[in-house]
Amino acid sequence: MNTKALHRITYGLYIICSRNGDKINGQIANTVIQTSSEPPTISVCINKGNLTHEFIKDSGVFTVSILAKDTPLKLIGQFGFKSGRDVNKFEGVNYKLGETKAPIILDHTLAYLEAKVVREMDVETHTDFLGELVGADILKEGEPMTYAYYLDVKRGTTPKSAPSYVDDKKKEAPKMKMAKYECTACGYIYDPEKGDPDGGVAPGTPFESIPDDWVCPVCGAAKSDFQKIEG
Ligand code: FE
Repeated sequence: MNTKALHRITYGLYIICSRNGDKINGQIANTVIQTSSEPPTISVCINKGNLTHEFIKDSGVFTVSILAKDTPLKLIGQFGFKSGRDVNKFEGVNYKLGETKAPIILDHTLAYLEAKVVREMDVETHTDFLGELVGADILKEGEPMTYAYYLDVKRGTTPKSAPSYVDDKKKEAPKMKMAKYECTACGYIYDPEKGDPDGGVAPGTPFESIPDDWVCPVCGAAKSDFQKIEG
């Protein structure tokens, strides 16, 4: 069996939100699909260890905010690399409560779906929630983010499990080239040629010249948590 065949499945990138009473939480997921159209039904697979899993179990509702291709890494990092148990992920984020009283992200969302859980399937580490649509709308026109685009272009990394992965540390870098730095917390790679425009760092800025209070655009780790990638 060649499990690399799994890497040929295509995905989008979404923020899944839910609530527990008045408490709200959300997380990044790529595993949303429409399962049927009459009645319209969607499913999402959520890790059992996540707070959002706990909230969906409790309230029986979830929302899907479909992200635009140009969504900044900061928003994805806030919902993808932090836990709602430690931080309020909604700080500084525009959202509204839907019909289900679960939040819908308004920043960088092209469209949203709201669902009530009608069935769930235990899949070891995850639960696959099947939900009947109770609300949906398009917020703006644009191209949706794909999981591949996020990994390759936005994040600048390809997972080690991917067939296209090339170990940057083994590639020989030209002597005069500015060094790339890797976040030891999440694997994000700072490429001086690209900079971090979302974080106010212009393309062409060497890592050494970035202000000390700059943080990893993906996970929020400090600049000091970065390690030089040796050529
Ligand atoms: Fe990071």
